[in-house]
Amino acid sequence: MPRRLDTYLKDLVPEEKLDFYSTVRDFADAEIAPHLLQWERDHVLVPDDCIRKMGDLGLFGLPIEERHGGQGGDHTDLLLMGLALGYHSQSVAITPGAAISLGAKPLQLCGTDAQKAAHLPDLAAGKRMFVFGLSEPGRGSDAANPEVTATRDGSSWVIRGEKCWSTNAHWASHVIVHALTNPDGPNGQRSTCFLVPMDAKGVSYVEMGGKRVWEQSSTGSIVFDQVRVSEQDILGELHSGFKVMVTTLNGGRLFIASLALASLAFALDRTRTYAEERIQFANQPIGRFQRVQDVVVDMDIALERNLTWLFHLSRLYDENRLSREQAAKVKVDSSRVASDLLVSAMEVCGGVACLDEFGLIRHHNDLFVTRVGEGSNFALKDLIVRPLRTD
Ligand SMILES: Cc1cc2nc3c(=O)[nH]c(=O)nc-3n(C[C@H](O)[C@H](O)[C@H](O)COP(=O)(O)OP(=O)(O)OC[C@H]3O[C@@H](n4cnc5c(N)ncnc54)[C@H](O)[C@@H]3O)c2cc1C
Repeated sequence: MPRRLDTYLKDLVPEEKLDFYSTVRDFADAEIAPHLLQWERDHVLVPDDCIRKMGDLGLFGLPIEERHGGQGGDHTDLLLMGLALGYHSQSVAITPGAAISLGAKPLQLCGTDAQKAAHLPDLAAGKRMFVFGLSEPGRGSDAANPEVTATRDGSSWVIRGEKCWSTNAHWASHVIVHALTNPDGPNGQRSTCFLVPMDAKGVSYVEMGGKRVWEQSSTGSIVFDQVRVSEQDILGELHSGFKVMVTTLNGGRLFIASLALASLAFALDRTRTYAEERIQFANQPIGRFQRVQDVVVDMDIALERNLTWLFHLSRLYDENRLSREQAAKVKVDSSRVASDLLVSAMEVCGGVACLDEFGLIRHHNDLFVTRVGEGSNFALKDLIVRPLRTD
């Protein structure tokens, strides 16, 4: 049965990009889908072998320039990867997804030539990963004012504090630390980003336990105990760390939207198929009941609408014309609509939807992350409302 997602993509992206999408989709069907349930039941992270294979496919280097060993692609490629991998598993998809959109991207956008030459080739090959260290135990939505500090000591900087919710920490070679450097400066000019090796003296990491979303994705808590770094480790401008983070998040939010739509696409196919197979009341498939059809149709409408919107914004991103509000809006809407419809889809399928092997419960849990990750939807509405206010 052709995926509904594939039907829409044919009209939205050029032929050569569809070939790339098909390659990643077939990889996910062969190398991820058959193993996912076992990985979940064993509570293991994405296995190293799977990461290596994704590296061999070039997924970690998608938007990295060819001269740095990447594929020289664009944001559309990244979103297609999110859709192809996320159809089965958001937590597998977020592994190269965060490595690119939150790890390599800040370096591409704000790094010096020397920093790029030193890191991009290994990042592109998937041999190295950067972690995005914005969130802290005491600073989530209020990330502009970090509690992690970096103080000058002669020619070096000393970092103290803790970051949490750091995606890919388990595999990370470096963490991009957003730290307070200028406490009395104006809003938005109080912090600086530092590129800190995970094996630097004073850095320690533990995997955050008890997480029941994105189960195969690594999520770490990273402590900095008087970690000494140099001027050369500053990423972007001094006291402009928040700008580095905010610039990065625009692209990341589009990626999160792609994951939400990947889950919606899976749920649509699962539900419409099941609705034709499941017989109740006088030998009728439940798909003949109008209320069931309502859910399926609403999912189909939402998928086509939000995919069209997402690929429009992806073009704006590549042309450097995407606003923060636009990126926030598609993330807020795709995550909300997909997760609301997922609950209805599960209701349509009934009790079987509670079983892990049916697949919907995984997407249900993972969709919650898309509502809070890379800016909680409620907090992002503060951003979206700004151009709407008349005061
Ligand atoms: C699985 C996972 C992976 C993540 N990966 C990363 C990562 O790689 N790097 C990283 O830095 N962070 C990461 N995060 C953190 C994520 O970005 C934060 O969870 C998010 O920014 C929200 O912060 P918080 O959880 O501290 O919620 P809080 O800031 O405590 O907010 C809690 C709730 O309060 C409400 N709220 C807060 N502020 C407002 C407001 N202004 N207006 C209206 N309502 C508001 C919202 O409902 C919000 O959900 C990850 C999170 C998860 C769950």
